Amino acid sequence: MIYSNLIEYLESVRCRYLLNEPLKKHTTMKVGGPADIYVEARSAEVLVGILSIAKKEDIPIFLIGNGSNLLVSDYGFRGIIVKLEGDFSKIYIKSDDVISCGPGAKLIDLCKFALENSLSGLEFAYGIPGSCGGAVYMNAGAYGGEIKNVIKKVECINYDSKKKIMLRDDCKFEYRKSLFSSEKIIITNVEFTLHKSRFETIKEKMDAIMAKRVSKQPLDFPSAGSMFKRPKGYYVGPMIEKCGLKGFSIGGAKVSEKHAGFVVNKGNATCKDVLDLVKKIKSDVKSKFGVNLEMEPLFLSS
Ligand SMILES: Cc1cc2nc3c(=O)[nH]c(=O)nc-3n(C[C@H](O)[C@H](O)[C@H](O)COP(=O)(O)OP(=O)(O)OC[C@H]3O[C@@H](n4cnc5c(N)ncnc54)[C@H](O)[C@@H]3O)c2cc1C
Repeated sequence: MIYSNLIEYLESVRCRYLLNEPLKKHTTMKVGGPADIYVEARSAEVLVGILSIAKKEDIPIFLIGNGSNLLVSDYGFRGIIVKLEGDFSKIYIKSDDVISCGPGAKLIDLCKFALENSLSGLEFAYGIPGSCGGAVYMNAGAYGGEIKNVIKKVECINYDSKKKIMLRDDCKFEYRKSLFSSEKIIITNVEFTLHKSRFETIKEKMDAIMAKRVSKQPLDFPSAGSMFKRPKGYYVGPMIEKCGLKGFSIGGAKVSEKHAGFVVNKGNATCKDVLDLVKKIKSDVKSKFGVNLEMEPLFLSS
C-alpha cells in the first residue's frame, strides 16, 4: 500500500490520522470528496517526519488551515492533507507589542488574545473564520485592514524541511495573495507587531466589525466567504444582483439572497454545483458589465 510507511511512522509517533476522510467535513463550504489520508501534525518534529516520507515516496501534500477559503473537488485529493495543531496553535506575548502565533491558531482566537492584552491592530480581522496560517497565505483583509500591515516575521519550512525566516517585505504580499501562494512553503509561526491601546477602544472596534459582518453576510449557511475577488473600481455583489442572479441556484449551490457576492451551500451542494454557478455568474457579469470576475477561494483537486 502506498501509505504503509507513512502510517507506520504516524502510529509510531502517535499522530492522529484518518483514511479516506471526506474533505467536506473540513471546509466551511461543506463540499469536497475524500482525501486519501488526513493527518493532524501537532509538532515540528512530526511535520518534518511527514514531509520527509512524502518527499521520499513522491506523495502529494496539501496544507489545510480552517478550510474557509477552499473549494475541494468532488473527487477529493490523492495524497496527504496536513492540518497543523497542538504546538502549532499556541499564541503568546513575545515582547511588549509583539504576539507570536502558531499557524494552526484560529484568527478569531488571535484577535481575542490581542484584545485581552490591550493590543490594537488586528480588529479588522475579527470574524474572519480562518487560521493564522491561512490568513497570512491569503493576506486576509477586511474593513480597510490587511494582515500584511501587522506582520513582523514569518517562520517557514519548505518541502525539503529547510527552515527559513521571512520579514514582512520578503513575503511579497498583494491583494489576497503572498509569496506562499506561489512557492511551496509551510508557515510554521508568525509574529505580529501591534500597538498598545485601551481595551475598551479595541473592543468597541471589534464589536462594530462583528455587527457589520452579522448584518451583511449570510453566516447561517455554509460558504467560502466572498466568491470573487473585488475588481478595481467595481462592487461584486451589486453587479451580480443587477444580473438578476440574487437567489439563483444550481443544484445545492445558491447566490445568497443576503449578499450576492456569496455563494452558499443550501444543503447538499456538490463542488460541481458551485463551479457551474460560478461559471454562470462570471459569464453574465462579463456580458452585462464587461468585467472579468476571478474566484477568490482556491480550488483543490488532484
Ligand atoms: C463567512 C466567511 C467570511 C470571510 N470573510 C473574509 C474576509 O473578510 N476577508 C478575507 O480576506 N477572507 C475572508 N474569508 C475567507 C477566509 O476566511 C480567509 O481567506 C482565511 O484567511 C483563510 O484561512 P484558512 O485557514 O481557512 O485557510 P484555508 O482555506 O484552509 O487555506 C487557504 C490557503 O492557505 C494555505 N495554508 C493554510 N495554512 C497554511 C500554512 N500553515 N502554511 C502554508 N500554507 C497554508 C492552504 O494550503 C491554502 O492554499 C471569509 C470566509 C468565510 C467562510
